[in-house]
Amino acid sequence: MTISAAAPVLVVLVGVLGIVVGSFLNVVVHRVPAGLSVVRPASACPRCGHAIRRRDNVPVLSWLALRGRCRDCGVRIPKRYPLVEAATGGLFVVVTLLFLTAPWSPATGVATGASADVHVLVVLVAYLYLMAISLALALIDLDTHTLPNRIVLPASVVMPVLLLTASVLSGDWAALGRGAVGAVVLGGAYLGLAVAVPGGMGFGDVKLAVVLGLALAYLGWGPLAVGSFGAFLLGGIFAIALVAVRRAGRRSGIPFGPWMLVGAWLGIAFGPPLWAMYLGLLGLS
Ligand SMILES: [Zn+2]
Repeated sequence: MTISAAAPVLVVLVGVLGIVVGSFLNVVVHRVPAGLSVVRPASACPRCGHAIRRRDNVPVLSWLALRGRCRDCGVRIPKRYPLVEAATGGLFVVVTLLFLTAPWSPATGVATGASADVHVLVVLVAYLYLMAISLALALIDLDTHTLPNRIVLPASVVMPVLLLTASVLSGDWAALGRGAVGAVVLGGAYLGLAVAVPGGMGFGDVKLAVVLGLALAYLGWGPLAVGSFGAFLLGGIFAIALVAVRRAGRRSGIPFGPWMLVGAWLGIAFGPPLWAMYLGLLGLS
């Protein structure tokens, strides 16, 4: 069976996987900034301390069945939990559809056969992993203005290993070379900014830039260009809007990590066509 024949089943499975991963991300977002284990102890109600029963721990559905309240003490369970679970499931499906169907995806247009199918799956796993850490990092940065090493450092190992495996399977060494250049260029640019403007970029941003540079440039120069400039464009527009509307001071400290991540995903999803359009406007294509 080929990937394309199994695609509908794959999309459903990935959607369910995403909802379960989203449930885990809620634990990660809550516990990692506090330096707690994400494995132990099992989840309990923060008010009455009752352990969460297994039937009350089903992503999305349990929250709906309980109408957003603890079964024991009735304290409100934040809407954010089911929303993160549903959003992770939805975004996992979007990433899967993108990588299975977009004409510029490294997973399409390659040779067919068992090794090609494994290649598609490895590329997909790499970018689903990137989506999972993107969601966790964006939420943690919004909550605490930090990008924890406990997430960024493993990613700086997992992404290269997965993309190296993908290149071994596809023989596309140019993609891996481009990814290495992207990691150095984007990481270097953020390091320059962090040194030049103290109190602006943090070193968490620099480390994330290395991972994003690799992930973007592996897919092409267009994703790298759109992904890196998109972060500053979106972050800049938002900051100006915030200053205009709420008269926020220039130093009110909006974290930049979420914009880096939104920009990167813009680059991954629309980088190649946007970049081709831009070069066309300049008369360079
Ligand atoms: Zn309770």
